[in-house]
Amino acid sequence: PKASRGICGADAHAIAGRHYLRMAAAGSAAHSDHSREIAHVLHKTSLDGSYQIKDEARLLSLAAEWGVETEDRDIYDVAHEVAEIGLNEFGKPFGTQIFLNRATEERRKVWAEEEIEPRAIDREIATSLHMTTMGNTADAEVLVRQALRVGMADGWGGSMMGTEFTDILFGTPTVRTTESNLGVLERDQVNIIVHGHDPAFSEMIVVAAETKEMKDYALSKGAKGINIAGLCCTANEATMRHGIRMAGNFLQQENALLTGAVEMICVDMQCIFPSLGPLAECFHTKFITSSPIARIPGSIYIKFNTDTALAQATDLVKMAIDNYENRDEAKIFIPSSKEAAVVGYPCDQIIRELDDVTNTHLEERGSYKPAIDAIKSGVLRGAVAMVGCNNPRVRPDYSHIEIMKELLKNDVLIVASGCAAQAAAKAGLLSKEAKDLCGDGLRRVCTLVD
Ligand code: SF4
Repeated sequence: PKASRGICGADAHAIAGRHYLRMAAAGSAAHSDHSREIAHVLHKTSLDGSYQIKDEARLLSLAAEWGVETEDRDIYDVAHEVAEIGLNEFGKPFGTQIFLNRATEERRKVWAEEEIEPRAIDREIATSLHMTTMGNTADAEVLVRQALRVGMADGWGGSMMGTEFTDILFGTPTVRTTESNLGVLERDQVNIIVHGHDPAFSEMIVVAAETKEMKDYALSKGAKGINIAGLCCTANEATMRHGIRMAGNFLQQENALLTGAVEMICVDMQCIFPSLGPLAECFHTKFITSSPIARIPGSIYIKFNTDTALAQATDLVKMAIDNYENRDEAKIFIPSSKEAAVVGYPCDQIIRELDDVTNTHLEERGSYKPAIDAIKSGVLRGAVAMVGCNNPRVRPDYSHIEIMKELLKNDVLIVASGCAAQAAAKAGLLSKEAKDLCGDGLRRVCTLVD
């Protein structure tokens, strides 16, 4: 730099701290706004509408946690009240996030002492933007502390709520076998890709494509079926609930279109390359955007409406089928690479699997205790979350996969989500054979669980 300080006197620490906080605020805004959309969908559920409650037990459990009356009430009344409480977490004037009650007393004490308990989600985001606007906080440590707080507003607010509401709406995931990588695209079927983050749209596309009417229509147009494949986090959502296969992750979205075999790519929000517009024009692919949050030149914009969601999705699936005959055979190349993967472990399923690690005569069943005991005794050396994104500055998936392999070798359990999970799937790390890459302790646990 030409000078050690900016014109106002801000030093490098202040400038870097402000950038860091702005990035954290933007991340929380994106994740939590996604959750807000889902909360609105929950608020619109009805027995005869596009969206119903798929996991009543999960709804009732959350209602009990939040003190919502459930006895002798219509399940949809309960859902609407729960959704409203959730929506109020975004802007409530007083108090901290309701889900903090789930944390241990010890942890809550630390957060209170450090003054990082998140208040209303939107407040933490607005405060972060305010603090980093010209002439405000220049103390880097204070900026980093607010980054923790705005991050927690998402982690213990928006994201946690989004997970609960999504499972209530679309069903808690179940264990499924699937496949991952571009080889899941089918040469003789109508390929539709769902891409983004919010499953409200992709869910309807999957439901519409599974109807007999659409299947018959595809056959009448010379295709052998309809193949829905996913990209990015929307892929994970649809895979865990419907078993659809995963075409890949963030840095692979252009490659999917380059196969020349994609009739339609339907996107919702976040992680959509603007390059998909001009790229789709090089092929017959229809590029559909659906959210006012992600409008992209070169796409067909169909504003997704919860009241007419299924009808809109059916029209889109039909449009994709009609587009099948426009393929240019000379441009088609589908790589053969794909790997088998087992996905979709909700908490209670993990506990059931762990029961197989216990001595039935001696030990408590139905809890995480076997995993905790294995960590305490040193058979496992801990658990690590591999959460997240691809970065074009490094070779796609390289760091995810290498770090994961090293962790497995060292008997560390991995919880993966987002593009990291898809990287793992493509590398075969979500298949049962991956236990051969584990150290002795983790391999033993995997063998007992299997
Ligand atoms: S993990 Fe990151 S890059 Fe991948 S889809 Fe999600 S937000 Fe986007």
